[in-house]
Amino acid sequence: MNLEDIKATKELLSAEQKIVIIPHKNPDGDAIGSTLALWHYLKNKGHNATIISPNDYPKFLKWMPGNEQIKNFETDSIGAKRLIAEATLIFTLDFNHLGRIGQLQPLVEDTSATFIMIDHHQAPSDYAKIMYSDVSMSSTCEMIYNFIEFLGDENKVTPEMASCLYTGIMTDTGSFKYRSTTSNTHRIVANLIEKGADNTKIHNNVFDTNTPSKLHLLGCALKNMVILKKYGTAYITLSQEELDIYNYKKGDTEGIVNYGLTLDGIKLAVIFIENKEEGIIKISFRSEGNFSVNEFARNHFQGGGHTNAAGGKSDETMEETTTYFTSLLERYKDELNA
Ligand code: 5GP
Ligand code: MN
Repeated sequence: MNLEDIKATKELLSAEQKIVIIPHKNPDGDAIGSTLALWHYLKNKGHNATIISPNDYPKFLKWMPGNEQIKNFETDSIGAKRLIAEATLIFTLDFNHLGRIGQLQPLVEDTSATFIMIDHHQAPSDYAKIMYSDVSMSSTCEMIYNFIEFLGDENKVTPEMASCLYTGIMTDTGSFKYRSTTSNTHRIVANLIEKGADNTKIHNNVFDTNTPSKLHLLGCALKNMVILKKYGTAYITLSQEELDIYNYKKGDTEGIVNYGLTLDGIKLAVIFIENKEEGIIKISFRSEGNFSVNEFARNHFQGGGHTNAAGGKSDETMEETTTYFTSLLERYKDELNA
């Protein structure tokens, strides 16, 4: 964040604002952790702030302090509409173009509120007056810690905020192992533990939450894995029928895509998940090394994200989607075998 933006933010926050904080659709640990931490911070500073999520999110994120006040647009659209219409300041966290907030997009585009974007994804669009966008960051939670520090309020990080920020950094870095995890990330994480984040408890709250049906769904996914050795690729499919058999709940497929990358010689791992209600196949991409799944998802599957983790979708059937996907790999063969 540059000095000018820090100054402008300080000025904005020196008067009382009506603030709405928005994470992306299908929010993950980083999206929920960052919005909640910012909410605590703003509320403690005397602002009137509300988090509006475009839709619901997994149960394993619902233990975070402040969770009960998050408004779900799908179940409380009237209240959410009013808050957005009345907002003077809108923070958008962990995404960088308004296509990522689903049904909230037209409402948000219609306000006269000032926008502040805090995000670490590639290719930000230009809707925010103040943009703290940095693709080198491990997570939006790491950026929220920096943001609070820029505003001179590092000592105002409470145990509640520390828990939320720790959670988002942990989930977005694959428990501190992805390449985006820097020495600075670890310094911030150390500070968060000092400020009251209970690291072991947080890990248990997020990861030790399996149910028998979730593990059986994982078994089904791993059985379905297709390994395309000559393209250094492994992909998994889950049909709606399979999700129904295993009593799928939001979040049950989290992390399954990563299994492909644990195989020797596999550089690209993908999971295709059918969503009959939305009429799409939701896709998650993960890669190792320089193969950019952000570009791959952007160019072929209406998506985007980061170099090594991205998402997208397809409007075709599962069979058409995987056939199309496989047909694309020939042109990336050299990169995927490098
Ligand atoms: P996941 O596969 O875990 O859903 O997402 C991986 C990364 O890609 C996340 O940073 C997420 O924000 C981003 N992402 C997921 N789906 C989409 C999408 O449809 N469009 C864009 N632009 N990014 C996505
Ligand atoms: Mn993130």
